[in-house]
Amino acid sequence: MARGVAYCKNKECDLMFKPVIMINIPKEGFFCYECKEPGRITSEKFSVTGKGEEFKEVRLEFMYDVQSDEYKGLAIIKDEHTAGNKVYNYSSPLIMSENRGMKAAEIMLGVLRTTDEAKLDPRDLLGKGMESLDISDPWPLYLKKLEYLEKKWSRI
Ligand SMILES: [Zn+2]
Repeated sequence: MARGVAYCKNKECDLMFKPVIMINIPKEGFFCYECKEPGRITSEKFSVTGKGEEFKEVRLEFMYDVQSDEYKGLAIIKDEHTAGNKVYNYSSPLIMSENRGMKAAEIMLGVLRTTDEAKLDPRDLLGKGMESLDISDPWPLYLKKLEYLEKKWSRI
Protein backbone atom coordinates (compact mmCIF):
# COMPACT_ATOMS: atom_id res chain seq x y z
CA MET A 1 0.00 0.00 0.00
CA ALA A 2 1.26 3.44 -0.85
CA ARG A 3 1.80 6.29 1.52
CA GLY A 4 0.79 9.86 0.86
CA VAL A 5 -0.73 13.10 1.97
CA ALA A 6 -4.46 13.83 1.99
CA TYR A 7 -6.31 17.06 2.38
CA CYS A 8 -9.72 18.65 2.19
CA LYS A 9 -10.49 20.80 -0.86
CA ASN A 10 -13.78 22.20 0.35
CA LYS A 11 -13.56 26.01 0.31
CA GLU A 12 -16.11 26.29 3.13
CA CYS A 13 -14.10 24.06 5.47
CA ASP A 14 -11.60 25.16 8.16
CA LEU A 15 -9.36 22.25 7.27
CA MET A 16 -9.02 23.14 3.58
CA PHE A 17 -5.47 22.38 2.36
CA LYS A 18 -4.33 21.16 5.78
CA PRO A 19 -2.19 18.14 4.96
CA VAL A 20 -2.85 14.83 6.70
CA ILE A 21 -0.09 12.24 6.44
CA MET A 22 -1.36 8.79 5.51
CA ILE A 23 0.92 5.85 6.17
CA ASN A 24 -1.51 3.43 4.58
CA ILE A 25 -3.96 4.97 2.15
CA PRO A 26 -7.35 3.30 2.69
CA LYS A 27 -9.25 1.90 -0.31
CA GLU A 28 -12.27 4.07 0.41
CA GLY A 29 -10.14 7.20 0.12
CA PHE A 30 -9.97 10.18 2.46
CA PHE A 31 -12.90 11.98 4.02
CA CYS A 32 -12.30 15.26 5.80
CA TYR A 33 -12.51 15.00 9.59
CA GLU A 34 -14.35 18.32 9.78
CA CYS A 35 -16.80 18.52 6.85
CA LYS A 36 -16.84 14.80 5.91
CA GLU A 37 -16.42 15.66 2.21
CA PRO A 38 -14.17 13.41 0.11
CA GLY A 39 -10.71 15.00 -0.11
CA ARG A 40 -7.78 14.69 -2.48
CA ILE A 41 -4.94 12.23 -1.92
CA THR A 42 -1.46 12.57 -3.37
CA SER A 43 0.46 9.36 -2.92
CA GLU A 44 4.12 8.61 -3.45
CA LYS A 45 4.90 7.37 -6.94
CA PHE A 46 7.80 5.75 -8.67
CA SER A 47 8.74 4.75 -12.21
CA VAL A 48 11.78 3.60 -14.12
CA THR A 49 12.90 5.24 -17.36
CA GLY A 50 15.92 4.72 -19.62
CA LYS A 51 17.62 1.54 -20.68
CA GLY A 52 20.54 -0.63 -19.71
CA GLU A 53 21.56 -2.94 -16.93
CA GLU A 54 22.33 -0.45 -14.22
CA PHE A 55 20.84 2.65 -12.68
CA LYS A 56 22.69 5.86 -13.41
CA GLU A 57 20.41 8.34 -11.73
CA VAL A 58 17.73 8.94 -9.13
CA ARG A 59 15.37 11.88 -9.60
CA LEU A 60 13.37 12.59 -6.50
CA GLU A 61 10.58 15.13 -6.34
CA PHE A 62 9.91 16.57 -2.89
CA MET A 63 8.34 19.58 -1.14
CA TYR A 64 4.82 18.93 -2.35
CA ASP A 65 2.61 21.99 -2.34
CA VAL A 66 -1.05 21.16 -1.72
CA GLN A 67 -2.44 24.39 -3.13
CA SER A 68 -0.80 24.16 -6.53
CA ASP A 69 -0.73 20.32 -6.50
CA GLU A 70 2.92 20.48 -7.58
CA TYR A 71 6.30 19.47 -6.30
CA LYS A 72 8.56 22.45 -5.68
CA GLY A 73 11.80 20.54 -5.21
CA LEU A 74 13.82 18.09 -7.29
CA ALA A 75 16.87 16.20 -6.07
CA ILE A 76 19.06 14.51 -8.67
CA ILE A 77 21.81 12.07 -7.76
CA LYS A 78 23.92 10.73 -10.63
CA ASP A 79 26.64 8.17 -10.96
CA GLU A 80 28.68 8.76 -14.10
CA HIS A 81 30.68 5.56 -13.65
CA THR A 82 27.95 3.18 -14.65
CA ALA A 83 27.33 1.25 -17.83
CA GLY A 84 23.57 1.58 -17.63
CA ASN A 85 21.33 4.49 -18.39
CA LYS A 86 18.36 3.77 -16.22
CA VAL A 87 16.70 6.43 -14.12
CA TYR A 88 14.61 5.85 -11.01
CA ASN A 89 11.95 8.53 -10.64
CA TYR A 90 10.33 8.99 -7.26
CA SER A 91 7.86 11.58 -6.01
CA SER A 92 7.11 11.78 -2.32
CA PRO A 93 4.74 14.20 -0.58
CA LEU A 94 6.28 12.99 2.69
CA ILE A 95 9.71 14.49 2.02
CA MET A 96 9.59 18.18 2.72
CA SER A 97 13.17 19.42 2.88
CA GLU A 98 16.03 19.52 0.40
CA ASN A 99 18.36 17.83 2.88
CA ARG A 100 16.09 14.85 3.24
CA GLY A 101 15.38 14.76 -0.48
CA MET A 102 19.09 14.61 -1.33
CA LYS A 103 19.78 12.09 1.40
CA ALA A 104 16.91 9.83 0.32
CA ALA A 105 17.96 10.02 -3.36
CA GLU A 106 21.52 9.11 -2.39
CA ILE A 107 20.41 6.12 -0.34
CA MET A 108 18.13 4.95 -3.15
CA LEU A 109 20.83 5.07 -5.80
CA GLY A 110 23.16 3.18 -3.48
CA VAL A 111 20.60 0.43 -2.93
CA LEU A 112 19.60 0.29 -6.61
CA ARG A 113 23.18 -0.49 -7.54
CA THR A 114 23.05 -3.67 -5.48
CA THR A 115 19.44 -4.79 -5.68
CA ASP A 116 17.35 -6.67 -8.23
CA GLU A 117 14.42 -5.34 -10.22
CA ALA A 118 11.93 -7.22 -8.09
CA LYS A 119 12.43 -4.85 -5.19
CA LEU A 120 11.85 -1.43 -6.64
CA ASP A 121 9.28 -0.25 -4.14
CA PRO A 122 10.56 3.03 -2.64
CA ARG A 123 9.74 1.72 0.84
CA ASP A 124 12.04 -1.24 0.34
CA LEU A 125 14.79 0.95 -1.08
CA LEU A 126 14.63 3.46 1.73
CA GLY A 127 14.10 0.77 4.34
CA LYS A 128 17.44 -0.81 3.46
CA GLY A 129 19.37 2.37 3.97
CA MET A 130 17.40 3.98 6.77
CA GLU A 131 16.04 3.00 10.11
CA SER A 132 12.31 3.34 10.22
CA LEU A 133 9.79 3.67 12.98
CA ASP A 134 7.25 0.93 13.48
CA ILE A 135 4.19 1.94 15.46
CA SER A 136 3.60 -1.67 16.48
CA ASP A 137 6.88 -1.68 18.46
CA PRO A 138 6.51 -1.69 22.25
CA TRP A 139 6.27 1.89 23.47
CA PRO A 140 9.68 2.14 25.26
CA LEU A 141 11.46 0.77 22.19
CA TYR A 142 9.53 3.13 19.93
CA LEU A 143 10.58 6.12 22.05
CA LYS A 144 14.18 4.98 22.01
CA LYS A 145 14.18 4.72 18.22
CA LEU A 146 12.46 8.07 17.91
CA GLU A 147 15.10 9.72 20.07
CA TYR A 148 17.86 8.14 18.04
CA LEU A 149 16.34 9.21 14.75
CA GLU A 150 15.81 12.75 15.98
CA LYS A 151 19.50 13.04 16.79
CA LYS A 152 20.49 11.45 13.53
CA TRP A 153 18.25 13.58 11.35
CA SER A 154 19.29 16.79 13.08
CA ARG A 155 22.85 16.17 11.90
CA ILE A 156 21.89 15.73 8.26
ZN1 LIG B 1 -13.20 19.65 5.10
